[in-house]
Amino acid sequence: MKNIRVYTTDISFRCLKCGKVSTAREISEMSYLQCPECGFNILEKVRREKVKEVLAR
Ligand SMILES: [Zn+2]
Repeated sequence: MKNIRVYTTDISFRCLKCGKVSTAREISEMSYLQCPECGFNILEKVRREKVKEVLAR
């Protein structure tokens, strides 16, 4: 049995005002693109690579 590495790319948004990083999912729950923390509407897209290990069966 060996593990498989799965790379997933998480897209997040960082508020340019307060610096809070929110996931794309959190942002999509808002009525439009804005920071859930302070309401500022200029957000920078941040990509984070994550490695998930999955057991191969
Ligand atoms: Zn903010």
